[in-house]
Amino acid sequence: MPYGMIKMGKVYTCIVCDEPVDKISKGLCQKLFDRHTKKIMCLSCLANALEVEEAVLMEKAEEFKEAGCTLFL
Ligand SMILES: [Zn+2]
Repeated sequence: MPYGMIKMGKVYTCIVCDEPVDKISKGLCQKLFDRHTKKIMCLSCLANALEVEEAVLMEKAEEFKEAGCTLFL
């Protein structure tokens, strides 16, 4: 079987509330903390931690995506 045909999507869970974290939130964590961060949080916990509105984070994510950041593709 060709290697790498099956990509097992790793499911990340929020370190705060243990909810599954979507790609956007994970990308944001990596972008805002560190690409190899273990601090993966869901959007609401991330917003809480950074003391910003979730909408602000979504806007940021859009900006990063438009800038072609591969973390968000
Ligand atoms: Zn959370």
